[in-house]
Amino acid sequence: MAECPVCGAYVDEHNPPVQGNYRGETEYFCGVAHKEEFEEDYVQRT
Ligand SMILES: [Zn+2]
Repeated sequence: MAECPVCGAYVDEHNPPVQGNYRGETEYFCGVAHKEEFEEDYVQRT
């Protein structure tokens, strides 16, 4: 199982609700809201 990096919820990486690729790392999210939240932080850090 993967973890949503925003809230730490478990996500099934074989059938994730939402996923994204960041610097070659695949991140799995519990939902689109947390993907957007992660991307906001990601953009601010870079
Ligand atoms: Zn989440």
